[in-house]
Amino acid sequence: MKQSQLFTKTRKEAPADEQAKNAELLIKGGFIHKEMAGVYAFLPLGLRVIEKIKGIIRDEMNSVGGQELYMTTLQPRDIWEKTDRWDDAKVDNWFKTKLKSGEELGVGLTHEEPIVDALIGNVSSYRDLPISVYQIQNKFRNELRAKSGILRGREFIMKDMYSFARTEEEHLKIYEEVAQAYHRVYKRLGIGHITYRTYADGGIFTKKFSDEFQTISGIGEDIIYLDEEKNIAVNKEIYTDENLAKLGLDKSKLVEKRSIEVGNIFPLESKYTDALDLYFTDENGEKKSIISGCYGIGVSRTMGVLAEIFSDDNGLIWPESVAPFKVHVLELGDSPEVMAAATELYNKLTAAGVEVLFDDRLEMSAGAKFADADLLGMPYRVVVSTRSMKENGVEVKKRTEEKGQIMTADALVDLVK
Ligand code: ATP
Ligand code: MG
Repeated sequence: MKQSQLFTKTRKEAPADEQAKNAELLIKGGFIHKEMAGVYAFLPLGLRVIEKIKGIIRDEMNSVGGQELYMTTLQPRDIWEKTDRWDDAKVDNWFKTKLKSGEELGVGLTHEEPIVDALIGNVSSYRDLPISVYQIQNKFRNELRAKSGILRGREFIMKDMYSFARTEEEHLKIYEEVAQAYHRVYKRLGIGHITYRTYADGGIFTKKFSDEFQTISGIGEDIIYLDEEKNIAVNKEIYTDENLAKLGLDKSKLVEKRSIEVGNIFPLESKYTDALDLYFTDENGEKKSIISGCYGIGVSRTMGVLAEIFSDDNGLIWPESVAPFKVHVLELGDSPEVMAAATELYNKLTAAGVEVLFDDRLEMSAGAKFADADLLGMPYRVVVSTRSMKENGVEVKKRTEEKGQIMTADALVDLVK
């Protein structure tokens, strides 16, 4: 893409009321637009990051047999009453709205009830199970505080998967497979080494623990106790001697860390399926409960985590797996020869299937183009200038490197292809 055509502009300052580094950098770079506290729009560059994160998640959910679907945001009240989750006293962060008739509707904050309801009529026999279904969709939660940029939104993007099994054993097998798929997701996003499976509260319906995936970060809202040898952590909310003993963890080996919850998986037992009257008939014709699990990943929150972790004073440093473009070509000086050479390089890289942002903006100083390249954070910066042309090449620098090196256009294509 030619940067002269990109409608978003970089800015020197983020809005004065923005305190979080992720939002500050992403707004300055033109990745996101703040509508209001906790509500952000994704602009072309930001949407490219979101789509890459989604692509990785989709790939891994498909690899464990997940079937993608897309549920609705508008929710009928009755299914939520069946599980006792409609009442604001029970679930305090609902957004609700009304039909012209006065009938109340919910604005989707999670989807256990509607998913189970949609399975009625489709799943009834042991032959129909096990299954896992998932979606990637906007969720709406009336969060009390929304001061962490896209880490905590009132409208945000979530991947939510739901599994349905015939027995506890079958459920546990799926649960573990998904947990492993989560590790692969975070690894591909570049945060595998600082993201830990963390025992947490299982909620009010089960005595079991849930498993959070927590990424170590100084700005995290959560506190976890980490066993670095075992690669396992415990959330502060369940950090008791009794629980540590149950989990076989030694208190003296645990270190306290701040962290951000990037994902969360829950055993649901048969709480939702029973309440919504979804059962199956086994091989002997007997009616049985269906055991389910739910598996969330905060897609937009994860983008915020990446912005927090992969950045420096000058801007973002995107991992290659999610960068909006792999290469940022900068044309300096505007002379017809340099512009022709830069355009040729842009065409060559694009033809080789490399995603390129081409800074072809005229009458802009080298300093301003360099500053924007640092702020936008593409993995490779390639400068085409009178100087580089004299040296018969282009100057290539990784965002993480101090100094670049001259190489031929062909060598560059080989490097980044
Ligand atoms: P938290 O403890 O952070 O409030 P949660 O436990 O309510 O989140 P879930 O309902 O399990 O979260 O949602 C699944 C995932 O969605 C979370 O692990 C998190 O990554 C993400 N998420 C939850 N709430 C938000 C939010 N308000 N904004 C952005 N992402 C969120
Ligand atoms: Mg949580």
